[in-house]
Amino acid sequence: MSAELIVIGGGLAGSEAAWQAAERGVNVALYEMRPVRMTPAHRTGNLAELVCSTSFKGKSPTTAHGLLKEEMRRLGSALLPVADEAAVPAGEALAVDVPVFSALVTEKIAGHPRITVVREEVTAIPDAPAVIISTGPLTTEGLSRQLASLTGDDHLYFYDAIAPTVDAETIDRSVCFAQSRYDKGEGEYLNCPMDEEEYRAFREALLSAELAPMKDFEPMYLFEGCLPIEELAGRGEQTMAYGPMKPVGLVDPRTGQQPFAVVQLRQENQEGTRYGLVGFQTRLKYPEQKRVFRTIPGLENAEFVRYGQMHRNTYLDSPRLLQSSLRVRSEKWNDGRALFVAGQLCGVEGYMESAAAGIVAGANAARFLQGLQEAVPPAETMVGSLLRYVSGEAHPTTYPGGKFVPMNSNFGLMPPLEGKKRKKADRILAKVERARDHLHRFIEAEWALTEERLEEVIAISG
Ligand SMILES: Cc1cc2nc3c(=O)[nH]c(=O)nc-3n(C[C@H](O)[C@H](O)[C@H](O)COP(=O)(O)OP(=O)(O)OC[C@H]3O[C@@H](n4cnc5c(N)ncnc54)[C@H](O)[C@@H]3O)c2cc1C
Repeated sequence: MSAELIVIGGGLAGSEAAWQAAERGVNVALYEMRPVRMTPAHRTGNLAELVCSTSFKGKSPTTAHGLLKEEMRRLGSALLPVADEAAVPAGEALAVDVPVFSALVTEKIAGHPRITVVREEVTAIPDAPAVIISTGPLTTEGLSRQLASLTGDDHLYFYDAIAPTVDAETIDRSVCFAQSRYDKGEGEYLNCPMDEEEYRAFREALLSAELAPMKDFEPMYLFEGCLPIEELAGRGEQTMAYGPMKPVGLVDPRTGQQPFAVVQLRQENQEGTRYGLVGFQTRLKYPEQKRVFRTIPGLENAEFVRYGQMHRNTYLDSPRLLQSSLRVRSEKWNDGRALFVAGQLCGVEGYMESAAAGIVAGANAARFLQGLQEAVPPAETMVGSLLRYVSGEAHPTTYPGGKFVPMNSNFGLMPPLEGKKRKKADRILAKVERARDHLHRFIEAEWALTEERLEEVIAISG
């Protein structure tokens, strides 16, 4: 099989991109450097391995992440059906057993007759008819330098942290209780309750703990949506209690009362042998994590399966570089070839957002090779609004502080509704309905390949 499309990086975005293009009749070579060369955060050679949280966030379509997933399924996501198979109980969220999920994705992608997985680090952008770069936040240096040269100056970065995981057998169940906030779901979270005094002592311990030194010397920009717990502790006495430690909708069965604060633990695998500390991404030194987190009621004897850690997270100044199809605008790459950038690297933030970018880049790389017009979901959809944010085609002036920063999916990215003012809940429902309607029409008119066309394309590409 000779590849027409080269996809570099077999993470969330690269796996979706390779699948989309292959399903559209294109022969794909998917380059993934693991396990030959590992990143500081991944632990296996599996494709689409999640590096930290095991959650793909909300399932309800009236949440931004729920709508994003609904749209991705309709656009032909390869990963979401696998996520359903590898799901673990997580109430309103879709969370997966990571080793099961990534092993199933690897099997699915590598098993596609038009995809060849090549285990090799790519150090320079290859000269091929179509290339997708989806090497993620931990892109290696050689490729990183080449990407920087595309923008003509340095590309951007911030720091992102991972939360620790504990062995389920070492959690004291006589202290922790199973319940989801507001009793939504079936009590899938374990809650370590704290009274006010315990909370204050815990905050003090966090603030005085020693941090791991960073290798880089640049200023440390943190991603506001995923702040380390010690950073939150430093922002104010109550910040944690109103954030990841909020006790609302929870009742400690031992007291019949709402605790002052809780640390929530989420099941990380289908067997229920590992639990992650939700929202507890951290940069504390490993021995300090053990010391401080063991002061949490119920975790006094916890064994840590993995400690939290912090990494540099690379992304591009995409509004200057990319179209909403995620194709690079530069003339150098518009000479009969096409270069796309997908995933975290293009400035979306999060697992599902990265995968969604992969779907759009993969489909458009295939369309380019097949002489078809670009097709990007409309701005009224969650996927379309996110890609317009990234490419600067929607609200070029609204980047916080004038600087492009990565973005999660959210309803604020969508164009405002016309007509009368509505309450927040009604506004969201109206945006969801509008998104569904626009996506439906887009899929019918532009996205779906008719069977006839697909057969034609496959016949041409052999
Ligand atoms: C420390 C950290 C914690 C994070 N925690 C979360 C979280 O809890 N929740 C969340 O939603 N998001 C989190 N993120 C963001 C997360 O990385 C993205 O959401 C998602 O993994 C990005 O998908 P991707 O496909 O762009 O990159 P990745 O999934 O990282 O995939 C990129 C792939 O490219 C490969 N690669 C890199 N360079 C090369 C090369 N030169 N040649 C060949 N292959 C290469 C890598 O091995 C990797 O498999 C975190 C990021 C970091 C750095």
